[in-house]
Amino acid sequence: MELTFLGTAGPRGWPQPFCTCASCLGCTGSAVREPSCVLVDGTLLIDCGPEPAHAAARASRPLTGVRHLLLTGPAEAAPLAWLPAAGLELVAAPSGPPPGLPAPTAGGPPWETVEPGAEFTLGAHHVRVLPGGSPGRVAYAVTGPGGSRLLYIPSSRLAPEADTARAWSDGRPYDAVLLDVVAWPERLAALRSAGAVTEDTDVLAVHLSHEAPPGEELARRLAAWGARAVADGGVVRLGTEPEAQPVRPHRTLVLGGARSGKSVEAERRLAASPDVMYVATGGTRDGDPEWAERVAAHRDRRPATWRTAETTDLASLVADATVPLLVDCLSLWLTAVMDECGAWDDAAWREGARDAVRERVDELAAAWRACRVPLVAVSNEVGSGVVPATASGRRYRDELGRLNAAVAEESDEVLLVVAGQALTLRGLPRKPRHARS
Ligand SMILES: [Zn+2]
Repeated sequence: MELTFLGTAGPRGWPQPFCTCASCLGCTGSAVREPSCVLVDGTLLIDCGPEPAHAAARASRPLTGVRHLLLTGPAEAAPLAWLPAAGLELVAAPSGPPPGLPAPTAGGPPWETVEPGAEFTLGAHHVRVLPGGSPGRVAYAVTGPGGSRLLYIPSSRLAPEADTARAWSDGRPYDAVLLDVVAWPERLAALRSAGAVTEDTDVLAVHLSHEAPPGEELARRLAAWGARAVADGGVVRLGTEPEAQPVRPHRTLVLGGARSGKSVEAERRLAASPDVMYVATGGTRDGDPEWAERVAAHRDRRPATWRTAETTDLASLVADATVPLLVDCLSLWLTAVMDECGAWDDAAWREGARDAVRERVDELAAAWRACRVPLVAVSNEVGSGVVPATASGRRYRDELGRLNAAVAEESDEVLLVVAGQALTLRGLPRKPRHARS
């Protein structure tokens, strides 16, 4: 099955007209995206922007072979006066005839209102109509002549309805899933949980808009979710381009100062993964209401499906992990380890506590290296500030620097978050993502 991306943005495009936000002003040249519109095997169009014919011509895929048009919702129905009177056999939409479409009696194409549950064959393609995840919208599952399977999920500003992911899945993985992963990475987590998305599924971001960061930051964020975006005009052939899959970072260390946004960045990285284990290493601080408030704020931000573990035996937890782990944070873990080893006392430090602390750090680094599930750890970057006044303060600062360096050495990706902006200190080599033929 060949997919030509004639548009990959939300209904208003990216940049949005006359918008002065940083994302829109930074979206220029080849980064400009038309409203989402996908041409399947040259004959079937899913959604359409205002000028799909010109976009198709730029991609060297003329629309002259199109026989069928599937629309996912009313907002996606751009004025369709451009549709040819002859040649089109069906326009399908979930809510009546699209605006601007000439009636069949006036020479327009036949149209049909579709509802979730409907199935039909269009030329060489089999189409199932699925719930769209929000009112008035539908998703489409398309099976090609060679058996390739595509799931196209409509854009939505609304939170996903419960159980939609189960409706999208029929127990078999899709070859490609097209969705607004930036707005709702949780949908991707639910599709993974339902078996509709596996490591072999090409997850392609569509309906992109100015909520997303422009440029390289978008590609980096998508790669963490196991997704990618192709430029407008890009062509993807299902089943023949396994090398186009994004390389998903396996072990990530997120560093940053206090309130830098490092925890938000760490949580976002695992937002498209189901069954995440959140590892709290800070323990409880009895009688400290401010601490309790901070812990509650972190917990409220996390998806309800995540589980929590509280431990200071981090090396064992990492070694035995079978689900993705989010460790927040290593600096609190080090505090607990130094407590356990009696490392704050100068004499004890010299007489064995130092070796005990470093042994725990070595154990953790070894477990980090051997781990086969996705891992994200948060840690404080403290070494650049004022030199602590006490010997124990300086000791903690030095040991945290060693710990951060040891874990960074065993990580595929290391990020430094400053003022909410993630800087890549170490990253995976990028493979070409733009499958343009
Ligand atoms: Zn904007």
